[in-house]
Amino acid sequence: MKILLVFDFDNTIIDDNSDTWIVQCAPEKKLPIELQDSYEKGFWTEFMGRVFKYLGDEGVREDEMKRAVTSMPFTLGMVELLNFIRKNKDKFDCIIISDSNSVFIDWVLEATSFHDVFDKVFTNPAAFDSNGHLTVENYHAHSCSRCPKNLCKNVVLVEFIDKQSQQGVNYTRIVYIGDGGNDVCPVTFLKKSDVAMPRKGYTLQKTLSRMSQNLEPMESSVVVWSSGVEIISHLQFLIKE
Ligand SMILES: [Mg+2]
Ligand SMILES: [Zn+2]
Repeated sequence: MKILLVFDFDNTIIDDNSDTWIVQCAPEKKLPIELQDSYEKGFWTEFMGRVFKYLGDEGVREDEMKRAVTSMPFTLGMVELLNFIRKNKDKFDCIIISDSNSVFIDWVLEATSFHDVFDKVFTNPAAFDSNGHLTVENYHAHSCSRCPKNLCKNVVLVEFIDKQSQQGVNYTRIVYIGDGGNDVCPVTFLKKSDVAMPRKGYTLQKTLSRMSQNLEPMESSVVVWSSGVEIISHLQFLIKE
């Protein structure tokens, strides 16, 4: 049986947020105030839809956006980590669950030739329409009250595990690597043998440490990381067990 590695994308694989990074394509590298202020909590995908429409209306073309997105830096040690996983694909299945979008993630994985490392990418579906506007849709509808309307990463993870298990694929443990507030929901459902790996100094890690101070129960172990190289060390330890 393999280990399942679950990756977040923004601020985990890449060292920035692709949705805010893309704003550098806008005139003067910023959004008009009315657009900036139009974000409503929980409705990020709708907001990004308006941002992409604005960029399209301003004449920002696909190749320009692609150049910007593929220039985002990887997080420290991530290239080493993804190469390590590729070399050990017999021991790991690997998925991305991200609130970015399918176009951005495809661009990055294609530019860096890391598509083959990931078995599946779950994210908001995006495409360019006939006007050259990037359009993005909610990944799904769900009823989790803790998560934004477009995506509950826990629902995605549970559905994936169930589907795999129906096909006879079971995992010894899940290792969840992320940084953000939308990684809290899936991480709190991890089981005793699983490992939550929050990025040091980011929202997920701060939330988990607050929860442990409040003695809120969590089953999985927690291993904090700053570099992908530290994640490699922990994975080496897990596969030796
Ligand atoms: Mg993130
Ligand atoms: Zn949720």
